[in-house]
Amino acid sequence: MPGRSVGAATGGDTYIATSGNGGYGVDHYELELRYRPVTNRLDGVATITATSTQVLERFSLDLSRLRVSRLRIDGQRGTRFTQTTHKLTVTPARAIPAGAEFTIVIDYGGAPTTRTSRWGPVGWEELADGVLVAAQPSGAPTWYPCNDVVSDKASYRIRMTIDPAYTVVCNGALIEHRTVAGQGVWTFDQPEPTATYLATVQIGRYATAKRDWDSVPGTIVYPAPIEAGVFSDFGKLPEMMALFQRLFGPYPFAGYTVVVTPDVLEIPLEAQGLAIFGSNHAAGDAGWERLVAHELAHQWFGNSVGVAAWKHIWLNEGFACYAEWLWSEQNGGMSADGLARQFRRDLSGRALDITVGDPGPTLMFDDRVYKRGALTLHALRRTIGDEPFFDLLRSWALTHRFGTVTTDDFRTLAATFSDRPLDRLFEGWLFSTALPRLP
Ligand SMILES: [Zn+2]
Repeated sequence: MPGRSVGAATGGDTYIATSGNGGYGVDHYELELRYRPVTNRLDGVATITATSTQVLERFSLDLSRLRVSRLRIDGQRGTRFTQTTHKLTVTPARAIPAGAEFTIVIDYGGAPTTRTSRWGPVGWEELADGVLVAAQPSGAPTWYPCNDVVSDKASYRIRMTIDPAYTVVCNGALIEHRTVAGQGVWTFDQPEPTATYLATVQIGRYATAKRDWDSVPGTIVYPAPIEAGVFSDFGKLPEMMALFQRLFGPYPFAGYTVVVTPDVLEIPLEAQGLAIFGSNHAAGDAGWERLVAHELAHQWFGNSVGVAAWKHIWLNEGFACYAEWLWSEQNGGMSADGLARQFRRDLSGRALDITVGDPGPTLMFDDRVYKRGALTLHALRRTIGDEPFFDLLRSWALTHRFGTVTTDDFRTLAATFSDRPLDRLFEGWLFSTALPRLP
């Protein structure tokens, strides 16, 4: 047990107990990065503004393998630090009082790599010629020092200096791109609160196209040789954006960027204000349209409205999966009801050994969390009716915009849109293993 003046070396999320830290919350990350693709060398200065929640004689951050060369707190002299493989422990020269804002400046560097996790490799990943960061859920410390707990959201400003042949994409708006001493310097600003796993860097030899997606400024970043497939497969984004803004409320961020890597990716993934797909998802045959919808829906559900702990992940994945069905229904495909009945039949033939409302770390990305999470929403829609259901979704996205949520928060809000009790519905779909019938 840490003493009352030592920040815990865990964020307290039972699914990833080794990640995150206690005793403070981060308000802002300012990352000044320099990267050499040829040698995979990353050098950074992270300026982290945080607020203590207790007296801190000692506290930690997450940082995987990269070495710290210098660390300062505010104007203090004599701050000490030590490192293990994944933790950076800081002992300020003078204890930080409770409730104080403080700034840590960390010079660090090394050859970033993915980090092993029970869900496979996560974090900074070298492509054939570039970089992809896919940090969910524990990969953020592979490229910057952070408080890697899903409930601790912060704003970001990221500046990357790199060979000018490369295009860089980070979260938020590109506020400056210039050439300095023969190097490309890219600065991105993400003012909205962002979870550590949703911060990202994408680097490649990319072409860039600007788009308007409904009312939202869009950007597509892609390898020029596959332009035709990219433009074709992401051509429905304006209609998707219009549908989701109608059903879920206004798009929560200033823009939406799609990055298509030249490499093949097993699955696309979401980050704050952007989504990353592989070249295999842009073959020009609309083969992955449902996932284009899925990743876009995460901007509302997962990114803006984030989970307070990983056990609530159905609030991200069930909602994004249900958005796929809503898109299908709207776009002349199978109705959400038809898809729900089909996937319920499919689930009934599979093992009933998962509790979707708290699936445990091993099964948190299990397909059944996605499908049964979506089925929970469909059962709710059938129970309370279309109009209250979509009012609820918009209210959910607005009430908890940029915040973090739990399943209980959703149940509490849903109750206000229903004239009958919903406890049996939620208990049956989320907290028992037996598969309920659809209403
Ligand atoms: Zn997803």
